[in-house]
Amino acid sequence: MTFLRALWDILHVAWFANPIYCYNRFVVFKILNSTNFSLVYRYIYDERVRKIGTVIYLHNVIRNKIMSKKSTPEYVKEIRRNQYSMDGNIEKIFSECEITSYPINVFQIARKLEFDIIYGKFKQDNVYGVMWDGDEPLNVGGKQMYRAILLNKQDSLERQAFTVAHEIGHFMLHCKDNTNFYERYHGGAEQTDSQKLIEDQADFFAANLLLPKKLMKAYISQHSNLSRSDLISKTCKDFLVEKDTVVRRFEELGYE
Ligand SMILES: [Zn+2]
Repeated sequence: MTFLRALWDILHVAWFANPIYCYNRFVVFKILNSTNFSLVYRYIYDERVRKIGTVIYLHNVIRNKIMSKKSTPEYVKEIRRNQYSMDGNIEKIFSECEITSYPINVFQIARKLEFDIIYGKFKQDNVYGVMWDGDEPLNVGGKQMYRAILLNKQDSLERQAFTVAHEIGHFMLHCKDNTNFYERYHGGAEQTDSQKLIEDQADFFAANLLLPKKLMKAYISQHSNLSRSDLISKTCKDFLVEKDTVVRRFEELGYE
């Protein structure tokens, strides 16, 4: 009887679920809701478990202790609710992450948001980075990470900083507590209109974060004796930002 019950449990779980990975003695399954893929249910089968109720209990134990998503700070939730203007978002981030001067340390902001930052080499040349925020770990070289930014170690510091700022933009604008977010951020790829909109929003957020309006206005008036091209070069060095981004930002701020 016990054997039959165990067999039934195995069949029941296996029928509905796709195994995703093994964790110690547990086999972890997930069931994707057919109408909404963002809803993921997991069932766990353990050879000693005989009731689905126990299975769900174990699932909750594992979910809370091992599989839970990292928490989101309150101020990020406020930003996601559009509580502030873009400048307000940036000021909020700076006060929460103790950013007081340029160049803006976006790595410090990412670490405050509990991102693991990993450097590596991607198989494809045009990949700037990967971002993951989820309730299952991303396994990188044996290290399990729930919230991570993977950077191309061959990129310049300026490029890496923009990638981190871009991913912080996604985290602030597009990530949600109840869904997982994965992006492979790369250049030169064709995008659908909706992907392009999201990417443009993240880029705009990144430019605002690296070259914030209030700081830039003060900086530009402080260096009004410089020619435009000298000011652009100096801004690139002082703010550790690539030239294209500085030029675009100057245009946005009305310095033609
Ligand atoms: Zn992106």
